[in-house]
Amino acid sequence: MQNRLNDALSGQSADYLEIRLEEFEANSIRFQGKDMERISSSQERGGNVRALVRGGWGFVTFNRWEELDEKIKEAIEIATLIGEKKSELAPIEPVEAELIPQYENDFRQISLKEKTDTVKNYSNIIMNFSPRIQSSIVDYSDRYTITHFVNSEGTYIKKEHPYLSLHFTAIAREGDDVQMASESIGSSKGYTQAERLSPLAQKAAQRAVNLLQAKPVPGGQYTVILDPVLAGVFIHEAFGHLSEADFLYEDPRMQQLMTLGKKVGSQELNVVDDGSLSGLLGSSQYDDEGVPTRKNYLIRDGVLTGRLHSRETAVKMGEEVTGNARALNYHFKPIVRMTNTYIERGKIPYEELFNDVKKGIYARQFYGGNTTFEQFTFSAGEGYLIEKGRITEQLRDITLTGNLFETLHHIDGIASDLDIIQSGGGCGKGGQHPLPVTFGSPHIRIKNVVVGGR
Ligand SMILES: [Zn+2]
Repeated sequence: MQNRLNDALSGQSADYLEIRLEEFEANSIRFQGKDMERISSSQERGGNVRALVRGGWGFVTFNRWEELDEKIKEAIEIATLIGEKKSELAPIEPVEAELIPQYENDFRQISLKEKTDTVKNYSNIIMNFSPRIQSSIVDYSDRYTITHFVNSEGTYIKKEHPYLSLHFTAIAREGDDVQMASESIGSSKGYTQAERLSPLAQKAAQRAVNLLQAKPVPGGQYTVILDPVLAGVFIHEAFGHLSEADFLYEDPRMQQLMTLGKKVGSQELNVVDDGSLSGLLGSSQYDDEGVPTRKNYLIRDGVLTGRLHSRETAVKMGEEVTGNARALNYHFKPIVRMTNTYIERGKIPYEELFNDVKKGIYARQFYGGNTTFEQFTFSAGEGYLIEKGRITEQLRDITLTGNLFETLHHIDGIASDLDIIQSGGGCGKGGQHPLPVTFGSPHIRIKNVVVGGR
């Protein structure tokens, strides 16, 4: 394959060329209540060519690998029409690599029947949990992708990527009151993990039933303690996306707000994006431009220290490449994306964060939310009232609203219990969703958070 691709690239007149060929097989199964709602199994093959000529990009996707030579010509033609300045890409060393994951119990060897039985079993666990459970949704999906990447600088990378996810949603009802809770996992390992999720299915059901008893939160300003899930979502959604250089490059106001060297939080605050961690959903030794991934500090000792780059944004902004160009699949060109993004652990046990909170909220799990530049709104999946340092009662309908920069300054406690979350969702940007990522954090405490009902 490597030779075939290199032959296709040779003798072409472009400043830079790359080819990505991809094939995958995928399965998905959905149960609603005790009934199977959907089952599907598919295979697909495709590819793309990206050409750079005088600063202009041509991008062409296709399904028939036999048409590769024509598609290369097309991509160069488009780039030539657009290009009118100098081509610039941050320099990298060419690499040759085959990235084949090692794991047991390959999900491709498991029959669709066996997978269906597993999903059905989880569905029954939720539905039989309590008479108050009204409905449930269990979604299973797996996908095994093989990609070949080659560029005109001599890089060739073959990647095999297994991905599996399971989502549980439980819906509980009492009279007119309907409450919902979800749990999910994503994994880049074998099928074994999918077989061990009865406790997670039960947890979704238990949480939905518990919410029926919870009181709506009284709106106001509180000291809030976030669990690792909600703190992780916060740092990914509210902060991480602002660190993506393609977005920053186009927005002078945000560039100003995100000036490197600016103090944004306490000395204890460190935020990292690290695609080189092994075995996590956002991990890979090389990104989708063949750049080695690495540990990138976005905030170090409370100071903005870095952002995430593709080869193009790095050279435009005069900074180093970070290994953050990623494409969801062959339909898309690589853009700047996060990988595994987290707040580093602090020094104190998380229980101590509660000690001097007279009246506050312990917000856990993630329900939904949105961000617009530096403004964010997040809903917690569950929460509790804290009075005089102790959890007293369960609350619901907790939404947290604020300005990112004020909120970072208001973080006044970071615990030592870092947890990286491998959820079954994914990150969305520019129509590319769901891209596997992880996010994480220790428990953190934030002063003066505006909390409102949903
Ligand atoms: Zn995201």
